[in-house]
Amino acid sequence: MLKNQALVKDLVALIGPDKVISEELDLLCYSYDSSFKSRNHRFVPDAVVTPRSTEEVSKIMKYAYANNIPVTPRGAATGETCGAVPVRGGIVLDLSTWDTIEEIDTSNMQAIVRPGVVHANLNKELAKYGLFFPPDPGSSRMCTIGGMVANNSSGLRAVKYGTTENYVLGLEVVLPYGDVIVTGGMKSRAIKNVSGMNLTKLFVGSEGTLGVITRVRLRVWPKPKARGILMAVFPDLEDAPQTVLEVYQAGILPAGIEILDDSAIKAVNEYKPEINLPDAQAILLFELDGNPASVEWEGNEVARIAKKRASQVEWSTDPERMAQLWEGRSVTAAAAARVRPDGSRVFAGEDISVPLSKVTECLRRIKELGEKYGVGVVNYGHIGDGNVHTAPVIDPESPEEIERVEKFADAIHRLAVELGGSTTGEHGVGLVRAPYARLEHGPAVDIMLLIKRALDPKGIMNPGKLLPEEEEARVS
Ligand SMILES: Cc1cc2nc3c(=O)[nH]c(=O)nc-3n(C[C@H](O)[C@H](O)[C@H](O)COP(=O)(O)OP(=O)(O)OC[C@H]3O[C@@H](n4cnc5c(N)ncnc54)[C@H](O)[C@@H]3O)c2cc1C
Repeated sequence: MLKNQALVKDLVALIGPDKVISEELDLLCYSYDSSFKSRNHRFVPDAVVTPRSTEEVSKIMKYAYANNIPVTPRGAATGETCGAVPVRGGIVLDLSTWDTIEEIDTSNMQAIVRPGVVHANLNKELAKYGLFFPPDPGSSRMCTIGGMVANNSSGLRAVKYGTTENYVLGLEVVLPYGDVIVTGGMKSRAIKNVSGMNLTKLFVGSEGTLGVITRVRLRVWPKPKARGILMAVFPDLEDAPQTVLEVYQAGILPAGIEILDDSAIKAVNEYKPEINLPDAQAILLFELDGNPASVEWEGNEVARIAKKRASQVEWSTDPERMAQLWEGRSVTAAAAARVRPDGSRVFAGEDISVPLSKVTECLRRIKELGEKYGVGVVNYGHIGDGNVHTAPVIDPESPEEIERVEKFADAIHRLAVELGGSTTGEHGVGLVRAPYARLEHGPAVDIMLLIKRALDPKGIMNPGKLLPEEEEARVS
C-alpha cells in the first residue's frame, strides 16, 4: 500500500514513472544517511524522485511549493548529521544518478559538473589533464559534488588547499518555489569575479535549506608533482601543536598535518600490531607536496624543527616508505571501530574544530569527558587546522550507552564553543548540530532565519536542518 498515492500519481505525471520511487521497502532505503542519529530514528519519505534535468527539478519544486510538501535534496547520503534525511517526510530528491561531467576546460582551469558526480570520479578525469579538485573528504569514493558544495566539505588537505567553497566559481540553483538562477561566475569563464552580492557563498554550505544545486562551475588546480611524508613522535602532547606552530612560523604550509594521540596509537597497534607505532603521547604526520625541489627542502626543514622536541623523526619521499609511514593514520578510523569487541565506533560529536592553541586542552578534556560519561574514545584529526576527530566507541544496540554517548557528544559540542572553536569543522550541521546554532552564532541566527524566510517562505526546503527547529518553525 502506498503511503501517499495522490503525491506519487502527481510526480509520475510530472516527470515519468521511471523517475519516481514509491514502494515502501525502497523508501526505507532513503530514511537514513551515515549518521548515528538516523540509525536510531525512522525518517521515511513519502516519495523519492531521481531527476536528470534542471527543468525536472524546477517542475518538482513548483509542485512541492504549491502543495506545501517538504523536499530534501540528497547526494550519496554519506553525511554524518542527518542532512539528507527527510525528517518531516515529503519528497526526497535523489540527485546521485545525475552524474554528468559537462566540461573540463583546461584553457581556463575549470570544470562544469552536474550534482551527482562522485568526487573521486571527477579527480580521475581531471588527472588525465594534470589537474585536480583539491578538497578531499574521507568519503571521496562515494560523496557527490552536490553534497560537497552543500556541506562545504573538505578533508585532511584543507590546511593548504582550503575547503570546497574556495573552488566554487558559480552555481545553478533551483529555488524553493521553482525558479532557476545562476550565481557568481556560472555564466562567465573568468576566474576572478567580484560583481554583485556573493550568492555563491550563500548557497555553499547551506545544506540544501535554500535551494537545489543543479550545476557547479569549479575552479581546478594543477596536480602537485611531488609528495613527501614526515612522521614525528612526541613524548609530551603539548609539543605537538608547538611544533606545528613553528613549522608555520618558518613559512612552510604543509598540505596536511595529522595527529594521533595515545588513544589512537594504542588502537592502531592493537588493530594491526605489525604497524608497531612508537608508544607516545602524540604522533604527527606532515604531508608536503609541490615541486620536487621545494618538497625536499621543506621536508628537511620540518624535520629540523620537529627534532627540537620529538623523540623520533622520519622523512621520506619514497612511495613505499611513505605508505608505511602513513599507514597508522589511514587505519585509525577502522582501528577505533575495533577497540571494544562488543562495540563499534559511532559518529557523535566527531568533528569539532578548535584554535590550534587549544588543541592540547581540547584532547585532554575530551578524555575527561569520556571518563565522566563512561564512553571509550579514540582521538585523532587534522591538527593543522584544529579539526579534532573523536571516535566514541559504544554498543550501539544498548539504549543506556546511546544515552551516555548523546550526553558525551553534547558536552563535546559545548566544549568546542567554549574553547573558541566550532561545533563542526567539516561534517556540517544538519539535524544533529542545529540545536547549537544559537550557542555558536548568537544573534546572527536571526539573519540566517531572515534569509531562509526570504528564499523559502513556506519552509519546505530541507526543513529541520541547519537552524534551531523551534525558531525555523516560525518561518512557515
Ligand atoms: C567515511 C566517511 C568519511 C567522511 N569524511 C569526511 C571528510 O573528511 N570531510 C567532510 O567534509 N566530510 C566527510 N564526510 C561527510 C560527508 O561524506 C561529506 O560531507 C560529503 O561531502 C557529503 O556528500 P553526499 O553526496 O554524500 O551528500 P549527502 O549526505 O547526500 O547530503 C549532504 C547535505 O547536502 C545536501 N545536498 C546534497 N546534494 C545537494 C544538492 N544538489 N543541492 C542542494 N543540497 C544538496 C543534503 O540535503 C544534505 O543536507 C565523511 C563521511 C563518511 C561516511
